[in-house]
Amino acid sequence: MAASAPGVRLLKLFQRRVLLVADVVETRAIWDHDGTGVWPGDWGRSAALLAENGFTAVLPNMLSGGMAHYPSNLLPRSDAYDTYGDQIAECLNACAPHGLAVHVWKVNWYLYDAPQGFVSQMRAEGRTQKDVWGRDVDWLCPSNPLNRELERESMLEVVTWYNVAGLHFDYIRYPNDTYCYCDGCRARFEAYRGAPASNWPLDCYSGTLHDEYRDWRALQITQLVQEVHDAAKALKPGILISAAVFPTYPDCREQVGQDWVSWVEHGYLDLVMPMDYTNSPAAFADLVTSQLAYVGGRIPVYPGIGVSSPGLSVDQVIVQVLETRAQATGGFTIFNLNMTAATEILPWLGRGLTDPGATSSVTPAPIPSRHGATRLLGAPFPNPAPGWTRFNVDLPRELQVRVRIFDVSGRLVATPIDQTLPAGAHRFTWSPPRHAVASGVYVLRLEALGCTETRKLVWLR
Ligand SMILES: [Zn+2]
Repeated sequence: MAASAPGVRLLKLFQRRVLLVADVVETRAIWDHDGTGVWPGDWGRSAALLAENGFTAVLPNMLSGGMAHYPSNLLPRSDAYDTYGDQIAECLNACAPHGLAVHVWKVNWYLYDAPQGFVSQMRAEGRTQKDVWGRDVDWLCPSNPLNRELERESMLEVVTWYNVAGLHFDYIRYPNDTYCYCDGCRARFEAYRGAPASNWPLDCYSGTLHDEYRDWRALQITQLVQEVHDAAKALKPGILISAAVFPTYPDCREQVGQDWVSWVEHGYLDLVMPMDYTNSPAAFADLVTSQLAYVGGRIPVYPGIGVSSPGLSVDQVIVQVLETRAQATGGFTIFNLNMTAATEILPWLGRGLTDPGATSSVTPAPIPSRHGATRLLGAPFPNPAPGWTRFNVDLPRELQVRVRIFDVSGRLVATPIDQTLPAGAHRFTWSPPRHAVASGVYVLRLEALGCTETRKLVWLR
């Protein structure tokens, strides 16, 4: 793609005013790296800032491999907890009046902000990672059963104690391709394959066992995702599981053991936020296109926009938000809620692009079609229908779509579509057997990506 192509395309759409106002119930999420909001001790002020500027969800970093901003029974409690109290409770209380969804973010494995005593204890117990040359790093080893239990149970503690909208994985991977080659990994890999690993660790790193070891390594990460998904859904079926992931797949599976497309395929994630941190509009557009293709409409993709890293000006942020609208992702995620975002980015978005007043009355939620029209489900024709009718479904990209027909009492009459359809216009004919459907008023209801659209149909037989 030529470097200027996305900019030109966006400009054309902008001129037609197609993307200025989101005609969708758009998820506008933001990561909060510190877990305290912009003003520590005052989550209320941060929640108000987000709501005033049209944001709908916040992902606060409340725990890591060895730290918790709430009174955890499993992880060391942080200085922020000691100073400002339970940050999950404070955040939830502040966000609830504004209807802001709170997805609690965990930094997995990495002993980020952990007390030195805890790090030393983990190292002494052989629970931290070693690279291929035997050097230590302050990350828990994912194949260690005690570590996996600590990671899982700490996330479930959050689900059990707090009414959160979601759980969010981050650092759900290895540090780089040189980890982990600790003694425990050797023993567990050999037990898994039922044979010794020759010439440890070099054969696993770059020799004959390279592929087998990379597969096993990715499995260690995937197993935590699956365990947390299954257990969290058992506790609270409505909870949403999401992850911040590397933007380029399948490189990240090879390099850091992050097989996120398989997590999507297996249904372990409800949302995915690829960290598309770049200041290049063309690179951003290409990443989003590739991620939507990998996900194939199974779940929403809310691309991460790197306001703090690499650092974007407000016009660069606007271009990337418009790109997510042009590609009909249904949302985006800003990195990160800090003072710069609070003072130099969010207020400008809120005056235009994300103005909460501009999108207040959109229910049910249509998804923008390929041409910027606001509906996916076309009007049935003929209508009234003399025993048969046709309708179009026009998709901006590949999506899982269901169209059902209900009578006026809400009884399901037929399900003409329940499948994944490619991008483009699709025409369907509904012609039930003669006399199978009584004369009367019916409703066609389309569902895609959690949104619905309806059309009325009068049936004459
Ligand atoms: Zn290890």
